[in-house]
Amino acid sequence: MTKITPQPGIMDIALYVGGKSYLDGAGEVLKLSSNENPLGPSPKALAAFQGATDLHLYPPTDHADLRAAIGKTWGLEPDRIICGVGSDEVLQFVTQAYAGPGDEIIYTEHGFSMYPILARMAGATPVCVAEQERVVDVDAILAAVNERTRIVLLTNPGNPTGTLISDADLVRLADGLPFDVILVIDGAYTEYADGYDGGVDLARARHNVLMTRTFSKIYGLGGLRIGWGYGDQELIDVMNRIRQPFNLSNAQLAAGAAAARDDDWLTRCSALNAEQRPRLAAALRQLGVACDDSQTNFVLARFADEAEAASADAALQADGIIVRRVGGYGFPEGLRITVGDAGQTGRVIAALTGWRENP
Ligand SMILES: *Cc1c(COP(=O)(O)O)cnc(C)c1O
Repeated sequence: MTKITPQPGIMDIALYVGGKSYLDGAGEVLKLSSNENPLGPSPKALAAFQGATDLHLYPPTDHADLRAAIGKTWGLEPDRIICGVGSDEVLQFVTQAYAGPGDEIIYTEHGFSMYPILARMAGATPVCVAEQERVVDVDAILAAVNERTRIVLLTNPGNPTGTLISDADLVRLADGLPFDVILVIDGAYTEYADGYDGGVDLARARHNVLMTRTFSKIYGLGGLRIGWGYGDQELIDVMNRIRQPFNLSNAQLAAGAAAARDDDWLTRCSALNAEQRPRLAAALRQLGVACDDSQTNFVLARFADEAEAASADAALQADGIIVRRVGGYGFPEGLRITVGDAGQTGRVIAALTGWRENP
C-alpha cells in the first residue's frame, strides 16, 4: 500500500489555537481573550441578520450591496473591494493566488499566528522577521526580501503588541519592496487607531498593496465571519478567480451591509474603547505592570516574567475572567487583555489589584 500524501507544507501546519472561551467549573465567565466588542453588533445589523430568512435562495455572488456599503462608509471604489469569510479568507486568497512552493512569505516576530499557517497552506515558506521593542521594523523586513519573496504580511496596528507604525514608515516599506512583491496591510484594528486609515492611500495608489479589514472587531460580528480587502483592480480580479462564488451567505451579506451603514454604532464603540483603554493601561502601570500605549481594543500587559504572568492569569481566572496568554506570540511574560466596557474593565482592575495585594 502506498501512503496518500498531502500537498507540501500541509503536515508542517500546527493547528491554530484560539482564545479560551470557558473555565472548567466556572459558570458565567467574562471573556476578554479574543478582542470581541463588549457592545456586540449594531442593532441594525442584528435586525438585518434576523430578516435574512430566505434560506432556500442562493446568495448573490457579486456582493454588490455589501461592497457599495463599505465603499460609501470608507470612501472607496466598490470595484476594488473583495469580501471574504472573515479577513482570514481574504488573506488566504492573496497567499494562495500569489505564492507557492519555493516562494517566501515574510511576516514579523509578533505577527498574527495565522500568517505562517497561510504560507504553508499555499506550500510557501514563512519567513519571520524580528521586531524592535514590540514595533515592526521596516528595515529588517526590507533586509529579508530576496528573489523568492512574494508577499509581506503586516498587521498594523499589531496584535498582540497594539503598536502602530507611522504612515511614513508604511510608505518607506512600500517604496523599498520590489514591484512584484505584494504588501498586505492587515488592518483588523484600524478603526481603534487614532488618525490612521489603514493604509488606504497606499492601497489606492500602488498596484502591489492590499489592505484587509474585518467586521469581527469594532463591528462586533466575529461570530458571523465577514471581512474584506481593498487594492488594485488587478489584484482583486485575480483573487476573485479563486473565491468560491457563494462564499458569503445572505445573512452575512445583509448583516454586514447594515453594520457598514450604521455610523452611529461605530462612533459609540470607538468612544467606549477610547475611554476604557487608557483607564486599563493606567491601572496596570499603577500596579507595576508594563504596557505600551495601545492603538487597538486590547492591552498587552507585560509582567516581570512568565511565572508572574501565570500567577496573575490564575487570579483573573479565579474571578471568572479569561484573558489571553501570548507565549505563542513571543510574550511568555504577557497577558493580552481585551478592553471591555466600564464594568468589565473595573472587574479586571479589581482582580489584579487583589492579586497584587495578595499574590
Ligand atoms: C482578529 C484579527 C483578524 C480578523 O480575522 P477575521 O477572519 O476577519 O475574523 C485579522 N488579523 C488579525 C491580526 C486579527 O487579530
